[in-house]
Amino acid sequence: MNFEDAAMTLPPSLCSGPIAIHWFRRDLRWQDNRALHAALQSDLPVVPIFIFDRHILERLEGPEDRRVQFLHDRLDQLRLHVQGWSDVWVVHSTPEEVMTALAEQADVKAVYANEDYEPYAVKRDHKVANFWEERGVPFHRFKDHVIKAPGEVLKPDGTPYTVFTPFSRRWQAEVRADDVAPAPSEHHLGNLHRFSAPPTPALTDLGFSAIKVSFPDPHIDAKVLASYAERRDLPAISGTSRISVHLRFGTLSVREAYAQGIKHSDKWVTELVWREFYQAIMAAFPHSMESAFKPAYDRVPWRHDGEQFEAWKEGQTGYPLVDAGMRELKHTGFMHNRVRMVVASFLCKHLLLDWRLGERHFAAQLLDFELASNVGGWQWAAGTGCDAAPYFRVFNPTSQWTKFDPKSDYVRRWVPEFESLSYARPIVDHAFARQRAIDTYKQALTSE
Ligand SMILES: Cc1cc2nc3c(=O)[nH]c(=O)nc-3n(C[C@H](O)[C@H](O)[C@H](O)COP(=O)(O)OP(=O)(O)OC[C@H]3O[C@@H](n4cnc5c(N)ncnc54)[C@H](O)[C@@H]3O)c2cc1C
Repeated sequence: MNFEDAAMTLPPSLCSGPIAIHWFRRDLRWQDNRALHAALQSDLPVVPIFIFDRHILERLEGPEDRRVQFLHDRLDQLRLHVQGWSDVWVVHSTPEEVMTALAEQADVKAVYANEDYEPYAVKRDHKVANFWEERGVPFHRFKDHVIKAPGEVLKPDGTPYTVFTPFSRRWQAEVRADDVAPAPSEHHLGNLHRFSAPPTPALTDLGFSAIKVSFPDPHIDAKVLASYAERRDLPAISGTSRISVHLRFGTLSVREAYAQGIKHSDKWVTELVWREFYQAIMAAFPHSMESAFKPAYDRVPWRHDGEQFEAWKEGQTGYPLVDAGMRELKHTGFMHNRVRMVVASFLCKHLLLDWRLGERHFAAQLLDFELASNVGGWQWAAGTGCDAAPYFRVFNPTSQWTKFDPKSDYVRRWVPEFESLSYARPIVDHAFARQRAIDTYKQALTSE
């Protein structure tokens, strides 16, 4: 990441006097937004910006990407909300170039943003903080993406938790009123700078094509939460909240989610705590984003089998629940949590393929992709992670199907041919694959 002279020109109305910047990242909402609120409380007019970051976009497979489409739509909505008197400057560039242009061409007195704990973001923000510090401009950051930030919930000896249950107990005991208090909203928007920005770059200018896709609403259904404990494992019904994409991009505040959760379902609040647990693990053990949390598990000799990996991706393994999940993912960008566990276990244990292959595939496909939760879920299923399923517990994809989709409604929706002769034959025998996985893991863990 290098800061060189900016090649871009700022919108002229943005350069008319002293300003504060609010840099939107994974907090795409006007209401209950801590950094934005703090910026609006300063006595400076606030210019909101969003950067379609080339460093990130270039890593996406493209040209069709549901996340980019989601961001694009959401930015349109954000702009529409303040149209006529203020705006959001949306730019396709790099943080280095945008910050340099702001420093050279505008009178920036302060920069505000909400914290982001992913390794790339941590490095980026560190450099951006240094850049502004050298110019005497503060870069203020706020906890907003989570209720308890990484490092806030620690064991009594000050080290990070690596097991979920004690983490969760302490998390719940330590939630304070100011952790969950919403940031005052709306009425402060009058402190936005009066300016207008150029149009949002078209998806094609970003290297993507527009796609038709329906996104879940950013609303939490109280009825779903009330029956969550009983219905959350059934993929055929709407038994879960479907807010993951909104927590991921901040189109819904996690404080609002928590407020709903404590009214209706303790079990559901525990799921929010899983999300925070994985964020804390990512921050404390960044190596685990790329290799096994427990290093001994990196000795598992993963198989290489392109044909089987392809069959898994395409939902052609001959195991109906696995295939239904993989086809749901391919067509919608979503997969039910129970099914995510089953397909992940199938890849790592039945096929003995490296969990990182599956993690990368999910990362490319999931609308709600969050590095910490995705790696956490995959390492849990592979048995390689902190507080993971033990390696010798191998999900049986057929009994998972009969237990959680007893009428086959979910399977029928995605694999209509599952009862016919045209359906794929199992690519691996369950009993054989189970034993092979147990033996292979055992040998790897006991060898030096
Ligand atoms: C292999 C695998 C990969 C996964 N990858 C992701 C991912 O990239 N992004 C993601 O948000 N979740 C991921 N999960 C967790 C979980 O599957 C989704 O959060 C959930 O299915 C989203 O649906 P929902 O919003 O209806 O969840 P609900 O059941 O209504 O839960 C509410 C919220 O709690 C959080 N949550 C729920 N379960 C988990 C969990 N096990 N771990 C962490 N957070 C959780 C999510 O933010 C979710 O929106 C993964 C799980 C597995 C097993």
